[in-house]
Amino acid sequence: MIDVTSTGHRPTLMTVHAHPDDETIGTGGAMAKAVAAGQRVVLITCTRGEMGDIVVPAMDTPENHRRLGEIRAVELERAMGHLGVTEWENLGYHDSDMMGRVGNHDPRSFWKADLDEAAGRLVWFVRRYRPDVITTYNDFGGYGHPDHIRTHDVGIRAFDRAGDPAWYPEQFEEEGLEPWTPSKLYEQAIPASVREQMEARMRESGHKSFWSVPDDATPEKIAEMEAFAAKMLVPDEAVTTWLDVSGAPLQAKWDAIHEHVTQISDESPFMLMGFDGWRESWANEAYILRESRVETSLPETDLFAGIV
Ligand SMILES: [Zn+2]
Repeated sequence: MIDVTSTGHRPTLMTVHAHPDDETIGTGGAMAKAVAAGQRVVLITCTRGEMGDIVVPAMDTPENHRRLGEIRAVELERAMGHLGVTEWENLGYHDSDMMGRVGNHDPRSFWKADLDEAAGRLVWFVRRYRPDVITTYNDFGGYGHPDHIRTHDVGIRAFDRAGDPAWYPEQFEEEGLEPWTPSKLYEQAIPASVREQMEARMRESGHKSFWSVPDDATPEKIAEMEAFAAKMLVPDEAVTTWLDVSGAPLQAKWDAIHEHVTQISDESPFMLMGFDGWRESWANEAYILRESRVETSLPETDLFAGIV
């Protein structure tokens, strides 16, 4: 039975993500930092990540692909152990795979889901956990993956609708939940300066990043990569909130990333930089305050500014 009579409200962060591993890469520092500050952290993952690639060749077998949702659930659980997060939920959709693939048409996929119905599922969790702060992605989903775009779509709708009794009234009329109005909505951001810094560092060490233009790239390819980067990255001055996650939160994030074994290879350019190299670029997590129902002054250094 849901406890809606509890009077104590702990400041609560809800991070909304597409697949297991996105939470750690995108908001792991914020999550670990909030836990350390005594705040409640609830992770919502919209799919189980069943369609992901398996980056470790020895593990890249049909059996593991068939079980990938389960494998990634275990990876997620281990990662949460490092971040100190004890509450996480899944919205229940099937991974839609990369844009343009057959998985986009799977009737169970997040991409094919009815948007109002999907937002209603997230509203249910917002009313259940009563977060003050919600994070999601930008309208490009960070990098154009269908599940990430949908995560944005449901995130902004749930933020608007959870406090509105006109939406999903059965949730409080029949299910014992009350409308809940979250205070702040953020989008994760990758500042342009981080890309430059990482690219420079990788060049120095002789590695290429997925941002690096291949030597044989045609002008069309270069233009395409630039257009992609423009949608993915934000100018530093557009960042409203720089969250210092250096120290223990960053160490926890680094450790948590290594639990997503099937997804992030030690040979990937990000990992080859090692903790010291990685720390240089990711000591701050960047967010854009998309909507606020409390007073705050920008730029901020705390997702809970104006709340606690
Ligand atoms: Zn993802």
